Amino acid sequence: MIIGVVGIQGAVSEHLDMLKKCNVDSLWIRKAEQLCGVSGLIIPGGESTTISKLMRESSLFDSIVDLGKGGMPIYGTCAGLVLLAKQGCENVKKTEPKLFGLMDMKICRNAFGNQKESFEAEIDFEGIGKYPGVFIRAPIIDKTWGNCKPLSFYDGKIVAAKQSNLLATSFHPELTDDIRLHEFFIDMI
Ligand code: GLN
Repeated sequence: MIIGVVGIQGAVSEHLDMLKKCNVDSLWIRKAEQLCGVSGLIIPGGESTTISKLMRESSLFDSIVDLGKGGMPIYGTCAGLVLLAKQGCENVKKTEPKLFGLMDMKICRNAFGNQKESFEAEIDFEGIGKYPGVFIRAPIIDKTWGNCKPLSFYDGKIVAAKQSNLLATSFHPELTDDIRLHEFFIDMI
């Protein structure tokens, strides 16, 4: 099994390191042509506006949408969560990152404001238990509908969700030593 990490911008090598710790082969994805050999895909954190723009300059953006609709397991962390959503709130509309529109959820970027831009907090993750959440200018999920189910909350806000083959977290498991979230994703493949 090979898991691709979309490596346009953001925390790419950290995800590749995590997959190595999970004994899974990985591939740094820069072009759509590389997608044919992978069984799952990670969209890392970074700046969603930049990642979206750069992906749209190649066929990567549309290829990922097609694969997600076709059942390819995709895991988005932080900016990756933003891109997976169908809807964004006002602060998404302002900068207009084009979203993949795959998951039945409405998200809000940079939802914790200036004072709490980055922080760590222990969260409860359904199916895993206590998990160290690393939040960096993190988005939250305002609401989910349809088959999209919340898996974790922080301070009453949804910070993780799953919809069949799609998984999204506001926080960055690749910046911890805890491989359980990546294993959770690997189990989805
Ligand atoms: N605030 C960023 C965005 O909205 C996400 C930050 C991150 O990925 N750590 O794109």
